[in-house]
Amino acid sequence: MRSFIRDICLRGLGFINKPAAGVHILNGHYISKENKNQNVLYELLKSLSQNVEYIKIEEAVALVTEKKKVKEKYIAFTFDDGFEECYTKIAPVLKEFNTNAAFFINPNFIESDEKYKRQFLSERVFVKNKNPMKWNMIKDLHQQGFVIGSHTTDHLRLNIENEKILSEQIVVSKNIIEEKTGSICEYFAYPYGQENDISKEALTIAQNTYKYIFSGFNHKKYFSFANTVINRRHFEGDWPLLHMNYFLSFKKRYK
Ligand SMILES: [Zn+2]
Repeated sequence: MRSFIRDICLRGLGFINKPAAGVHILNGHYISKENKNQNVLYELLKSLSQNVEYIKIEEAVALVTEKKKVKEKYIAFTFDDGFEECYTKIAPVLKEFNTNAAFFINPNFIESDEKYKRQFLSERVFVKNKNPMKWNMIKDLHQQGFVIGSHTTDHLRLNIENEKILSEQIVVSKNIIEEKTGSICEYFAYPYGQENDISKEALTIAQNTYKYIFSGFNHKKYFSFANTVINRRHFEGDWPLLHMNYFLSFKKRYK
């Protein structure tokens, strides 16, 4: 009942509000929890495109890190956790709109057996029936111009201080991705993405390892953690257009 009321309110707000000028970096995981068809995402992006323009994630990052004032309404995409539908459903839709995304992956989930996969999924209460991408899919995405970033080796919450574990999660995942794709991995998104999900120690290691670090909170501001972490706005591929209109209606600020 509560989510029904929330839905009605958001639709109402979305009816009144339209996307604001600025660079909106979105963060999703899949088309839908229930493995819906990719047409859902296609229709959402088609409707949104009446008001916004899609830009590549590298362009979005360049605009934001140079602290450009943007009059246009730009959207760029990122997807976390490396589910198979990133390759089979999401990437083909993004290509239809001439754009790309950064896919943040966990190397040990890519290489997981059934037991590891069940454990990985059980930490995500709403997704049960998902598989990881395979390395050949990830290599293909990289060759098609998508960005492959790290989301730690095992999707560990980085609110810890142990440097050995942090290095295994933050540095080793980068090395594996670079070995598989044959190019430098500059993007990192820490798991769970909230303010308390990364320790000072983890942030320092990430800053020494990657060019760009992404969170998943405070999306009204471009940056958090003293201008060192780029904030993203959560969405999923089957969200209603009117919800999106509302979430994108906030004017983005550098300070
Ligand atoms: Zn994640």
